[in-house]
Amino acid sequence: MDYFPIFAKLRNRPCLVVGGGAVASRKVHQLLKSGARITVNSPILNDDLRRLASDGCIAIQSRSFDPLLIEQNLLIIAATSDPQINREVADTARRKNRLCNVVDDGEASGFIMPSVIDRSPIVVAVSSGGRSPALARIVRQQIDEWLPSRIGMLARWAGKWRDTVNRQIRTHDGRIRFWQRILDGRAAQRVLAGDITAADSNIVGELKQPDNPSNSGEAWIVGAGPGDPDLITRRGLQLLQRADTVLHDRLIAPELLELARRDAEFICVGKQADGPSARQEDINQKLIELVQSGKRVCRLKGGDPFIFGRGGEEVSALAKAGLPFQVVPGISAANGCAAALGIPLTHRGLSSAVTLITGHRADQLLNAATDAEWSRLAASGHTLVFYMGFGNLERICRKLIGHGLAATTPAAVVQNGTTRHQRVAHGNLENLVDKTMGMSSPAILIVGEVVSLADQLGWYTQRSENPVPISAGLAI
Ligand code: SAH
Repeated sequence: MDYFPIFAKLRNRPCLVVGGGAVASRKVHQLLKSGARITVNSPILNDDLRRLASDGCIAIQSRSFDPLLIEQNLLIIAATSDPQINREVADTARRKNRLCNVVDDGEASGFIMPSVIDRSPIVVAVSSGGRSPALARIVRQQIDEWLPSRIGMLARWAGKWRDTVNRQIRTHDGRIRFWQRILDGRAAQRVLAGDITAADSNIVGELKQPDNPSNSGEAWIVGAGPGDPDLITRRGLQLLQRADTVLHDRLIAPELLELARRDAEFICVGKQADGPSARQEDINQKLIELVQSGKRVCRLKGGDPFIFGRGGEEVSALAKAGLPFQVVPGISAANGCAAALGIPLTHRGLSSAVTLITGHRADQLLNAATDAEWSRLAASGHTLVFYMGFGNLERICRKLIGHGLAATTPAAVVQNGTTRHQRVAHGNLENLVDKTMGMSSPAILIVGEVVSLADQLGWYTQRSENPVPISAGLAI
């Protein structure tokens, strides 16, 4: 290890920055976060430093480098544009046993400044020992993506309970075991979801019987997004990666399932988007059994769990059984497909509302009792998005025209939206059906003037490996 990592407490401690330009400014701002008492030594200052000085945030020694300042400071940063002066600062600092960082000169530096993720009080510092700051930044980004955004909140929450735990659990080993369980368990998950009250009551329960942990089983109802495995939320991914068991729909991308723990148990509950459903009661029952047996179950569902996903029924079964659960939203097929095609679902002047409809019910909608419903839809002026309607496509289009929507109303069908098997047919209510030859479920139908915006806003190349012809003029 070329550099020893430490976190220095600089609050109210004197630090010197030599230099008055943009680089010095940047270093001053980094140091200010730590509460250091900063002196800037430079005959010339940029606007930013002058402002900081007039605001009383920093002190100024307005002359060329003054070696006498070195001894009065704990840390020194040489940030002038003159390598000669920077070296002089570094040499003086070394002679006086002060730590000095020379910007862009690892060799002359007594310390280097790492790439930092600040989720205070959790702070992660990454360094490449000056070999490749760019690589250190990439590593930092990767950790940043993986680290829950509320990890700092979790640290503060644990800090709040530390004394209580120390008082109640007497042995060091006992405390380590306890905290491991808490931080890997339900309480921590609650904090990461922002629910401190639930976390508090969980830890109170655990403290009552620290040697006899309560059942850690929990269900996470997670929206996997519309198909592209990158379109799951960060929280969804984090929970997927922690789960003992993954109970997933058939249409979940295999690439997503590969991100779960290697030793996780995978159960495909076989519910297809259309087609015959697995019995929902069986899925609910399986979920309940797994959670009762202490498993942390990720119930991974296509799109959003609460949009035509029967997530409500699963949650209600869990609630009835008195079992803990969390719901993580997902990007629904309507959002995913609309974004992929360049169709804003609402657009000033064209549509100010969206209606999501299940086309499954089109059979029922055919009878007279629901004519009013069709008329309302046709007259609404909303963008209409039909899920599960591919089998009824022709009837849906005919019904909309029959109830007053212009036959020329733009409409599109998107199959396997956002995936590499995406297929698109684009036309209007009159001619759309002919353009969907060879297409199949899962697909959504989007109807409304906004659909024509795809001509200008389409950005996503046709992904189907076996594409159907797309109507002329559509730039997707
Ligand atoms: N909860 C899901 C919807 C489940 S119902 C969500 O929020 O998206 C299943 C229907 O969703 C399918 O019949 C189809 O209409 C639609 N669907 C799901 N994924 C799709 C995709 N990638 N492309 C097009 N339609 C999709």
